[in-house]
Amino acid sequence: MRIGIDLGGTKIEGIAIDDGLVRMRRRVPAPRDNYTDTLAAVVDLVRDIEREVGRRGTVGVGIPGTISRATGLVKNANSTWLIGRPLGDDLPRLLERPVRFANDANCFALSEAVDGAAADADIVFGVIIGTGTGGGLVVSRRVVDGANSIAGEWGHNPIPAPRDGESPGPPCYCGRTGCIETFLSGSGLSRDYRDAGGQLSTAHDIAMRACHGEALASAVLARYEERLARALGTIINVLDPHVIVLGGGLSNIDRLYESVPALWAPYVFSDTVTTRLVRAAHGDSSGVRGAAWLWD
Ligand SMILES: [Zn+2]
Repeated sequence: MRIGIDLGGTKIEGIAIDDGLVRMRRRVPAPRDNYTDTLAAVVDLVRDIEREVGRRGTVGVGIPGTISRATGLVKNANSTWLIGRPLGDDLPRLLERPVRFANDANCFALSEAVDGAAADADIVFGVIIGTGTGGGLVVSRRVVDGANSIAGEWGHNPIPAPRDGESPGPPCYCGRTGCIETFLSGSGLSRDYRDAGGQLSTAHDIAMRACHGEALASAVLARYEERLARALGTIINVLDPHVIVLGGGLSNIDRLYESVPALWAPYVFSDTVTTRLVRAAHGDSSGVRGAAWLWD
């Protein structure tokens, strides 16, 4: 049995997969700002799952960030109470077994590559477009972590081939300006709509207005699609993925799956582009499922 844990900022989710089937799933609130309580919550969740299913399992954990190879401590996590903590030592000790960890976007990509929207594909790039623009890379059903544990982090590259007004671009929380994330996150889309004269709106509302024929929303969404095509075009040149899977709130915008592949060809160094752009099959469950699949 494989147990997956998704260590989120507001909730901790656990899942048990056995013979490819979900045996159990449970969510508990995340103890915000408290590392010790977070450890205890994860241990309790694993023990509860094992007691109810009646079996011991392997444990994989998806985290918002990564465990530094240099220090063994958590880095790059937006759940800041995990930063600098020895999660990779503490959880295996408390659970009395080895534990595998991966960035939550990598877990998302793995889930979709194993039995989701990219199940038949060898090279899979997973993108979560929502609050941020996370990314993860899976090759032959294995997460590619990388020398610095940042493989797939495309969101903090500068937007490629910048147009007027895109360079230096908006400031990003990472300290740079004009990052892909500042244009392609949900808040990036909302800002663009407001700057173009629209009222303050969520990405979902802008997509609905475009769907109902509002000219301003349509124009802003078209600009979003063109930027996404540029940003993914450079990914295709480097990784040449068979499938790019979109997850997160903005992945629910239906028109992306036709419009973006129709726009990315000029940025790809190939006469034909067979890379498929697809929507995640497992929705919000991809992260926790992928954590379970860290053990194969
Ligand atoms: Zn950035």
